[in-house]
Amino acid sequence: MKIGLISDIHSNLAAFRAVLSDMPKVDEILCAGDLVGYGAEPNEVLKLARAKEIKAVMGNHDQAAVTKDVRGLNDRAATAALWTATRLTRENLDYLASLPPRLELKLEGQRVFVVHGSPRDPFNEYVFPDFSHRDMAEAVKGAEADVVVLGHTHILMRRMVLGKNIFNPGSVGQPRDRDPRASYAVIDFDEEVEISFRRVEYDIEATAEKIKAAGLPEELATRLFFGW
Ligand code: ZN
Repeated sequence: MKIGLISDIHSNLAAFRAVLSDMPKVDEILCAGDLVGYGAEPNEVLKLARAKEIKAVMGNHDQAAVTKDVRGLNDRAATAALWTATRLTRENLDYLASLPPRLELKLEGQRVFVVHGSPRDPFNEYVFPDFSHRDMAEAVKGAEADVVVLGHTHILMRRMVLGKNIFNPGSVGQPRDRDPRASYAVIDFDEEVEISFRRVEYDIEATAEKIKAAGLPEELATRLFFGW
């Protein structure tokens, strides 16, 4: 069984499309949250996610767009969240509001736990790949699972702590590891759990133009070229 892992699409339709067309045939696609925010195409991204029946959790930007409560976000992110909130169609808003904070699935006998931030703080905690063994164990101890899928940092990760595989596929729509290509991963559940990380080019120029044309903060366009 193969599972596609994506996260942090951030209203970047071109990157999302590029990832979906690059992805090998999978049985299921899981998304660790933040489908919207930052980018200029929230409705298009949500429509595609719904059409592909992607199983997603809610991220902090999704939550901000639903509630219009932007206190946890920096100025640029808050501006984009409020911009998103005013543009979402009723259907897409309802879909976004329906996303759970956590997903627990059983796939090929493996317990899989998906959350945007961390099991103990689903929306806001950043779990970085350079966490010490002890900090990592502490951060994920709330997940009774064999595989824990996280997002939020926009940085890909593969760690093994307390017998749990901890994965972050990186960000589809706004990578922050200085590689501007869209990031995602594929898990292969065979005898062992194998993950492969993949990067895909997409039309950053056109995406940046859309962000500027929408009147969103210019830095949200610029940073895409640099991958931070
Ligand atoms: Zn994000």
